[in-house]
Amino acid sequence: MRAEIIAVGTEILLGDIIDTNSAYLSKELALLGIDVYYKSCVGDNEDRLRDAFYEGLKRSDIIITTGGLGPTDDDITKEIACEVFDKKMELDTNSLEKIELFFNKIGTKMTENNKKQAYFPKDAIILENKNGTAPGAILSKDKKIIIVLPGPPKEMIPMFEYEVKPYLKSINKGTLISKTLKFFGIGESTLESKIIDIIKNQDNPTIAPYVSNMEIRLRISAKAESEYKANEMITPIVKKIKDRVGEFIYAEDNVSIEEVVSKMLVEKNLTISIAESCTGGLVSSTLINYPGISSVFMEGCVTYSNESKINRLGVSADTLARYGAVSEEIAKEMAEGIATNLNTNVAISTTGIAGPGGGTTYKPVGLVYIGIYINGKTTVKKYILNGNRQDIRLRATKNALNDLRLRLLEL
Ligand code: ATP
Repeated sequence: MRAEIIAVGTEILLGDIIDTNSAYLSKELALLGIDVYYKSCVGDNEDRLRDAFYEGLKRSDIIITTGGLGPTDDDITKEIACEVFDKKMELDTNSLEKIELFFNKIGTKMTENNKKQAYFPKDAIILENKNGTAPGAILSKDKKIIIVLPGPPKEMIPMFEYEVKPYLKSINKGTLISKTLKFFGIGESTLESKIIDIIKNQDNPTIAPYVSNMEIRLRISAKAESEYKANEMITPIVKKIKDRVGEFIYAEDNVSIEEVVSKMLVEKNLTISIAESCTGGLVSSTLINYPGISSVFMEGCVTYSNESKINRLGVSADTLARYGAVSEEIAKEMAEGIATNLNTNVAISTTGIAGPGGGTTYKPVGLVYIGIYINGKTTVKKYILNGNRQDIRLRATKNALNDLRLRLLEL
């Protein structure tokens, strides 16, 4: 079954509001196993909305609109949908009562033009709006369906959830189940090239890579008549992918690397302290995104200057003079220094050149050393990272968390 979404509203076209309704509906429809191949946005204009309906009905079984159900003359979605399906509207007294009740509840007198919202074709399924005045509706003709929903998300979402979803489930047997694998330490193109034959030979389940915030997600989605069957189809694909690139998978769920690392620290009851130079607090603040971290997170310091590295962490002035602040030796002393000062089981240190200035032939912009201390043993990794200052800080942070994850796996 194929659906498409039309967001109605000139405000959306002008960029005054962001079309979050379509994003919500796309996600929900995917979970129901309903394909969405097109989304469009039309202003409050009769001719263009009519065209959008006709175009949509040529290629989709269901059109879902949001917006344009209000009481004013420029709210035309329901009227045009009825015209397209050649349906006449009449007053639905039940809807009118509910609209009057809504106005009573909020202590406002209903205006005459609100009556417009209570007109529907006789055979429409009327969708009650518990959070506003505009009821929605499901209209059908010759196996095609138009569902009109109000624009405000706080009205549209409950209406979809409680009234449209059960309806769609009843007419569309089947489900779409997805599993997400999250990768770190492998580029998107390398990952794709290693599993391209698996991706190409599959149309159910489908396999789709996504990149965001320097992390790669692979989503495997199967459509089947039951959740059990869909999972049965996904399992062998996941196994094949793991056999090829399993060492880069850090989670089999849509979770962030900080969540994975934080959970490991909490589960193992390992306290942590962090000494940061080039990342400037980003490692600490990223770890602190995880709400349960407070039981193990002791302190994060931004030890940016040489003085601070010496005074705060006990880094040796001699090592600094001999190797420079951006060096393997300093990363090691920073991690060991903060772990000793705070008596923690684990410590992370970062030191590097985030740019844009400060790079040399031997120590280019993007050079970062990351130290990981765990119970007396320190390891330091050297990275040459790409991007601008912010990218380098973010990449260093993610690598620091992944380095810690890999060390924790060895315990
Ligand atoms: P009302 O009954 O309030 O008149 P309506 O169905 O006529 O609602 P619109 O007038 O088109 O809806 O939009 C009302 C408000 O709903 C917009 O100002 C905006 O805040 C929100 N809205 C509309 N469409 C969207 C959308 N696609 N995504 C997010 N918000 C939206």
